[in-house]
Formats: sequence, C-alpha cells, structure tokens
Amino acid sequence: MTQMADVFDLPEDHILRVAHRASIYHRHAIEQSRQCGCFYCLKLFGPEKVCAWTDRHRPDSEQTALCPCCGVDSVIGDGSGVDISDAFLEDMNRHWFDAGSRTE
Ligand SMILES: [Zn+2]
Repeated sequence: MTQMADVFDLPEDHILRVAHRASIYHRHAIEQSRQCGCFYCLKLFGPEKVCAWTDRHRPDSEQTALCPCCGVDSVIGDGSGVDISDAFLEDMNRHWFDAGSRTE
C-alpha cells in the first residue's frame, strides 16, 4: 500500500478521494447517473451497460458496480456528484493505480 501514500495525503474532501469513495457501495448513485466511467480501463459508458455487481451481501442500493469492459470494481457515475470525463478518469487512474511510478 505504500505506493498509494501520496493520494492518502490528500484531504478527505479532495475530488480524487471523494470519487474513490463513490466507486463502492454506489448502486443507487450509478442507477441515477447519465454517464459512468471506469478509472481502471478508462472507458465511458451509460449505467445501463453495468450488468454485474459485487458486494452482493449488501442491500441492492449499496452494491458495487463491476466495469462492463474490464470487470474491475472501479466504476464511478456522475450521479455521485462527480463529472465523468476522459481527463478525470485518467487523473483517477494515475493516482489510484499508478502512483508508484510517478516521478514528480
Ligand atoms: Zn473498466
């Protein structure tokens, strides 16, 4: 987990952390979304494309979407109050999946 230390240094209310928290237990928000995206494979898709959910022990509205493209639980939707764009997904990916290889 040490390679993620820098993102955890960000304030709790930083958009990258807010969005990360919004990437789990969010079925209700995903179903309210118009645009969803995956910050692992960087694909954009509509909520109707999500057909697999994890955390099935939780109530339906608190399940976690699995990406229809890559199957990773890294889906966020604009129903969570974040703007889903290519640039934003890239930013999320860099911080949450690639932090160890950053040079700055
Ligand atoms: Zn994906």
